[in-house]
Amino acid sequence: MPHPSIPFLDLVTQHQQLEEELTAVFQSALRTGRFIGGPMVEEFEENFARFCDSAYCIGVGSGTDALRFALMAAGIRAGDMVITVPNTFIATTEAISQCGATPVFVDIDPRTYNMDPEQLRRFIETECTRDDATGKPIHRGTRQPVTAVIPVHLYGQMADMDPILEIAETYGLVVIEDACQAHGAQYFSKKHHAWKTAGSMGIAGAFSFYPGKNLGACGEAGAVVTQDEQIARSIRMIRDHGQRQKYHHDMEGYNGRLDAIQAGILSVKLKHLPKWNEQRRQWAMAYREALSDIPNILVPFEPAWSKGVYHLYVIQTPDRDKLQAYLSENGIGTALHYPIPLHLQKAYAANAPSRGAFPVSEAAAERILSLPMFPGLDRDAIGIVSRRIATFCKMR
Ligand SMILES: *Cc1c(COP(=O)(O)O)cnc(C)c1O
Repeated sequence: MPHPSIPFLDLVTQHQQLEEELTAVFQSALRTGRFIGGPMVEEFEENFARFCDSAYCIGVGSGTDALRFALMAAGIRAGDMVITVPNTFIATTEAISQCGATPVFVDIDPRTYNMDPEQLRRFIETECTRDDATGKPIHRGTRQPVTAVIPVHLYGQMADMDPILEIAETYGLVVIEDACQAHGAQYFSKKHHAWKTAGSMGIAGAFSFYPGKNLGACGEAGAVVTQDEQIARSIRMIRDHGQRQKYHHDMEGYNGRLDAIQAGILSVKLKHLPKWNEQRRQWAMAYREALSDIPNILVPFEPAWSKGVYHLYVIQTPDRDKLQAYLSENGIGTALHYPIPLHLQKAYAANAPSRGAFPVSEAAAERILSLPMFPGLDRDAIGIVSRRIATFCKMR
């Protein structure tokens, strides 16, 4: 008998369960006429700053806005080079390019899929020289100053921040965390001997509230968190046409604000986020137990210093495309994050290095598979998915 189908992501059930509370947000906006700015935005910003152990939160229009505004506020300008990884969503590099800078890549750690701090160090020490005046790295090839690094906490697991921050400090680089997949992820900092929350360690952390993220709006939304008052003030201006006061523009900015309705919706959902993240961790454990012993299946690695929030549950297998097709035939939804590393995308064909430049990212892209992962899963569903994977591997 065929099993019921298991979607990769279910965005309907969770919203049905919260329908009354979410509808009340919309009604309150209708009754007050406060659609842009106002108390619902301020309340969410306060709550999300607290959730991220950060002093300030600035709501913006999307995660892409959050990255772009954070870079601009941190002083990244046209002609700079900004380091990130090739296995991320293109928004990371779009944000870099859109503030006039050039993205440049370093490879990832094969076990965590996140920025390899040794590759970061190697890039700065071998591909850059030091500017005599500023002491900052200058790229040998392009002569551009390298001014920032964006570690991406991919799949909800944090990048190894202690060494990244240490290298950045040595070379005077700004660190902006792309925490768009990592709401609430934790990192144990040996340096501070304390657990730190995603977004609270760099000069700023960028979050997306795209509907499918761990904390999702019912539309587009994002936020920057920071401990730095100056950065917060600057982003508040950039998101609102460069104005501190209505029609007094100190600079040109953007229309990049967080809607009041989305902010109200996010406040409702934020109360549930710790529980939802805990459920994701439980499902990750259940997958691990069921999949660990299957030959040719590699389950996610969680270092001792990481407490991930499993935005995605990503396995590796040599027969990826066939396994994906087999699961699909059996009613199980999966996805690829991401099928093509950024340096091999058409968008960067003219400027990025070609195949072979980032072997770890390239090898991962061919083998990764994201299994169903969302808080409303259950043990039965995980059992079904895992048994299907086991059956497929036996057939090979
Ligand atoms: C979702 C995401 C973004 C962009 O967020 P949007 O809200 O869609 O603009 C940026 N980086 C990563 C890693 C993401 O997953």
